[in-house]
Amino acid sequence: MLIVVMKEQASVKQIGGVLREIESRGLTPFLSRGKDITQVGCMVKGDSAQIEEKLLGLDGVERTFASSRPFRLASREFHPENSVVHVSGVPVGGERLIIMAGPCAVEGHEQLQTVGKLLTELGVPMIRGGAFKPRSSPYSFQGLGEQGLELLHEVRNRTGLKVVTECLKPSDVELVGRYADLIQVGARNMQNFALLQELGRCRVPVLLKRGMMNSLEEFLMSAEYILANGNQQVIMCERGIRTFETMTRNTLDISAVPVLRRLTHLPIIIDPSHAAGDRELVPALSLAAVAAGADGLIIEIHPEPDKAWSDGPQCLNFPGFRSLMTQIKAVAQAVGRTL
Ligand code: PEP
Ligand code: MN
Repeated sequence: MLIVVMKEQASVKQIGGVLREIESRGLTPFLSRGKDITQVGCMVKGDSAQIEEKLLGLDGVERTFASSRPFRLASREFHPENSVVHVSGVPVGGERLIIMAGPCAVEGHEQLQTVGKLLTELGVPMIRGGAFKPRSSPYSFQGLGEQGLELLHEVRNRTGLKVVTECLKPSDVELVGRYADLIQVGARNMQNFALLQELGRCRVPVLLKRGMMNSLEEFLMSAEYILANGNQQVIMCERGIRTFETMTRNTLDISAVPVLRRLTHLPIIIDPSHAAGDRELVPALSLAAVAAGADGLIIEIHPEPDKAWSDGPQCLNFPGFRSLMTQIKAVAQAVGRTL
């Protein structure tokens, strides 16, 4: 991708001139507007010398360079400043650390209302809960489906909590998008390209989880599928990868936080619950994630974890979550984040 860096004082008219020049050659310009830096990217096939010369001659243009990354719109080269994704008014990727918490699966009205009440009391802005569950066994509980979405909507109406819930297939994007403030792509679907393309065409922010056997470059390429199809609201989520270690459900790749931070402008959050698979380990992994610079956490909690229909062993109970929130606050403060 060829990137045009605009001068700091470049006017809207001058930026428009660059966009029009690119369009006049039958190419699509991608605009990256930060607080201080404005850049325009375009994919040039073949020799770019002629178009580069023309662009360099336009008013307001500082310089041009070719990006070397296979992921383009997701790269920090294209968008140097951190992006903030606004989830129905909740900014993810800013100074405030964003906590999302809730059960693995939506089980019923009572369960969600109890969780909703706790989150409101603790000032947690977002509730999670799967209505469509990607289960390893076809005989396991598959989620309440649309009824589960309605229960999430109910708790949203009552509390103002924003809803994050998973979508499993392209044909459900429209349905899930009607209920969700943030649509989750689960680890098993990270490379479901048809789903990513459909999410790119919708206007609801996406929480993209890293596949359990995918490299960070593949993870970024999956984000690129969503961005390239028009949806710029993507949050990256590391949730543990498969390694030789059997003591934990997955191995939390904590280095994913600083490595992704270097490569992309997109917000980065951590799911300590699916990484650990064990509630006793969730606090340590949560605190490590915050210390490493994550923009938020997505944590599984349940009023009665032993009775949970899925992922009970990794769900925190209410007292456990309450005490973890106090610890998170201390670490957040230490690394200059608010909660
Ligand atoms: C979940 O969030 O409940 C879930 C299924 O997560 P993952 O896709 O990371 O396994
Ligand atoms: Mn789960």
